[in-house]
Amino acid sequence: MVRLRGRLARSQSAFGKGLLELLSRDRLDDEVWDEIEENLITADVGVAPTRAIVEDLRTKVKVLGTRTPSEVRAMLREELLTQIAPELDRTLHVRPHGERPAVVLVVGVNGTGKTTTSGKLARVLIGDGNKVVLGAADTFRAAAADQLQTWGDRVGATVVRGPEGGDPASVAFDAVAKGFEDHADTVIVDTAGRLHTKTGLMDELGKVKRVIEKRALVDEVLLVLDATTGQNGMRQAQVFAEVVNITGIALTKLDGTAKGGIVISVQRELGVPVKLVGLGEGPDDLAPFDPEVFVDAILG
Ligand code: GDP
Repeated sequence: MVRLRGRLARSQSAFGKGLLELLSRDRLDDEVWDEIEENLITADVGVAPTRAIVEDLRTKVKVLGTRTPSEVRAMLREELLTQIAPELDRTLHVRPHGERPAVVLVVGVNGTGKTTTSGKLARVLIGDGNKVVLGAADTFRAAAADQLQTWGDRVGATVVRGPEGGDPASVAFDAVAKGFEDHADTVIVDTAGRLHTKTGLMDELGKVKRVIEKRALVDEVLLVLDATTGQNGMRQAQVFAEVVNITGIALTKLDGTAKGGIVISVQRELGVPVKLVGLGEGPDDLAPFDPEVFVDAILG
């Protein structure tokens, strides 16, 4: 996996630097606070968390009085970290349980980066000496299975796929069965992200999960969210959270946006930790999410 620090700095630090500059001003009048609020909203922090941050900072500034640059940085760092929920458990449940491979279900809207994230995650696990099976449960688009196959070939994972238009749940089941047969450590099931109707999605994902559970428990349900889609993506995320029990978020395309604030809003809204971040299209462009590293990268 790549390190978060160097990769984020370029696109995200404008947001952090802007906040630092505003907070360092001698006089913090209402206009400046409005600007701070705007800065947070523009970065996709979300309305409620923005209010909470501004309120906290106003109180802290009042207590502190005049501020040195290092005090401003420490104050903002502490505030952002609190909002990023450092207490959430970010363990990825990808280790096998005796004979049973760990099962990871990858869900999210099409185009968010599900297949890419599945491939990159397989790469990381294989790099750590694990055996991985990839299940192409997006049977609605032949291209999706082909793309996963390409990733499998590239990173050395076995790919289980079904006929185009076939039953996604049956592919998921076959992938888990293959995991047992091959004594794999982890089975990663890439699902279809058709957000046609909520009931349709619920039926589809519900069935995939139920069928897998005939053989094994699902250890991790990773919701893939495209950081560049901002609050729209958040709404989609909420629909998924209503239909499946999400255990972690993979936030993709953080390399392509200056809006890091989604890290705050998504965790606050869903109460689920961001566990992974996507930082590019390449096989090594996946990093574990570390709140402290993230905040330090933002603040420069
Ligand atoms: P899916 O439909 O959800 O499976 O999405 P894909 O995995 O096919 O990804 C959609 C597009 O986003 C592809 O062109 C990927 O290369 C690209 N992509 C995925 N993750 C990232 C990322 O972290 N950063 C960037 N820049 N592009 C990404």
